[in-house]
Amino acid sequence: MENDQKYDIVIIGSGLGGLLTGALLSKEGYNVCIVEKNSVYGGSLQTFKRNGVVFDTGMHYFGSADKGQFIYKLFNYLDIFNSLKLKRLDLDGFDILNYRDKEYRFAQGFDNFTDIMSSYFPNDKDAVVEFVERIQEVGQSESMFNLISKENEDFFKVGAHYSQNVFKIVSSITSDFVLQNVLTGLNGLIGGGKDKTNMFVFGMTYYSYIESAWRFVGGSSQLTDALVAKIEQNGGTVINNMEVTEIVLDDNRSIDFIKTNKNIIIKGRKFISNIHPVNTLKLLPNNSLRKVYVKRINRLENSTSMFSVFLVLKENLVKYMNYNYFDILTKSTWFDNESGQKAWPQGYILTSQVPEGISEYVSGITIMTPIDPHIFDKWINTDVEKRGPEYRNLKKELAEKLLEKVFSRFPEFRGAVKKYYTATPLTYRDYIGTPNGSAYGFIKDSEKPFETLVLPKTHIRNLLFTGQNINVHGMLGVSTGSLLTISYITDIKKIIKAISDAG
Ligand SMILES: Cc1cc2nc3c(=O)[nH]c(=O)nc-3n(C[C@H](O)[C@H](O)[C@H](O)COP(=O)(O)OP(=O)(O)OC[C@H]3O[C@@H](n4cnc5c(N)ncnc54)[C@H](O)[C@@H]3O)c2cc1C
Repeated sequence: MENDQKYDIVIIGSGLGGLLTGALLSKEGYNVCIVEKNSVYGGSLQTFKRNGVVFDTGMHYFGSADKGQFIYKLFNYLDIFNSLKLKRLDLDGFDILNYRDKEYRFAQGFDNFTDIMSSYFPNDKDAVVEFVERIQEVGQSESMFNLISKENEDFFKVGAHYSQNVFKIVSSITSDFVLQNVLTGLNGLIGGGKDKTNMFVFGMTYYSYIESAWRFVGGSSQLTDALVAKIEQNGGTVINNMEVTEIVLDDNRSIDFIKTNKNIIIKGRKFISNIHPVNTLKLLPNNSLRKVYVKRINRLENSTSMFSVFLVLKENLVKYMNYNYFDILTKSTWFDNESGQKAWPQGYILTSQVPEGISEYVSGITIMTPIDPHIFDKWINTDVEKRGPEYRNLKKELAEKLLEKVFSRFPEFRGAVKKYYTATPLTYRDYIGTPNGSAYGFIKDSEKPFETLVLPKTHIRNLLFTGQNINVHGMLGVSTGSLLTISYITDIKKIIKAISDAG
């Protein structure tokens, strides 16, 4: 079946990157169509409700949303900021790291961060100061994030930070093993491992949260709703339950149309893929891209996969925590996938849903921990809810092992859990379509900076990428990435100026 209309822009996938590029381009007057395989839009912005409690799946907090900061300006420019219900995390500790049974607070504001962090290491204040300076250097050097206009190709120069390994940098700043591990203790947010995490991804992530850290009140899907509504108001079309199954090229080796599982053909002038590049390549005809490129993309390693436990809590028993808790259970704060399984879990990140209304008690808590996705290989060809009792038993066993660790840190939780639900890497794979359910897409490897950088532009003239794989992951990375993508389509200088003026 052919849809008569030919859109200016067809976007495959309605993750944050797809929705943002759609919102930005439709605001510019482009006729945009977004095609999503799931019934629910948003990819990792999705929330789900169990026993009346809303759970976020992949956006528990984000940074740079205070007045004058990047996300604030971008969302204001898109006219959605005021529709979002946000709660700022604790100024003196948006994240608490428990390492070797001692708590370390990661504070908002660069001076505040330095003061609080150096109070734990009074003899090593200089190292903390230098660490913060290094983070600031990364944050202040990124043009899109700082809304500095350039020619579009110049936005994507592989800067020095891509080839700097974080742990090596931190080890050059201090020889104190504990301080090295504490400073890099939030590396679970990046999932690239000690030998590969580059200073760019790490620095941008830290910079953004230290600027200001926020949670959604009532779930991250409100961002999806706001963006979908904007796109539709701008004349765009957003279609769900429609999986793209094929990308068809014309004689000039440009994309002519996409085909979907409903046998519908959607035509466009330009196409943007918001899905994982490896999966995008699978949709293209063989030999449509150079073999070396295809080989490189297919060989890239993905970041960590997660096992998550969602706790529904009994009423009025557990006080809301206005911070995330990183509990490290091993010698190093760096999660290690290879040797990690023997000592699983190596640690976990615990995050609370913001209570509705004025309650000081929390009803939903999520615990996430990296896990080797291959332990689920047996079920690789099965679908959600159809994996059988052995799989359910394995999930239960893993959840209980993880919960024992959580209960020994937070004994008040033990009697407070009404019910719990789990998500494995296969769950994430099936809902968002990332290989092995990788949480943050490709690892941007400090040792292979050029090889692991994927540009929005492809050798197919009218195909671009957007989303977490082309830039940095997370709210900040995907947002700046959307601007990078649209810089190949529209007058980015004008848009950057307008965003810059938007707050
Ligand atoms: C467990 C977890 C926790 C996280 N926590 C945070 C956090 O606290 N803060 C933060 O900033 N970031 C966090 N992240 C990262 C963040 O969620 C992601 O970087 C970001 O949302 C990715 O957006 P994306 O645009 O790349 O698209 P994705 O979210 O990957 O969405 C891709 C979309 O494409 C759709 N799709 C796939 N294949 C097809 C097809 N063939 N046809 C049509 N549609 C298709 C999918 O269904 C999906 O909707 C977390 C991620 C995970 C997994």
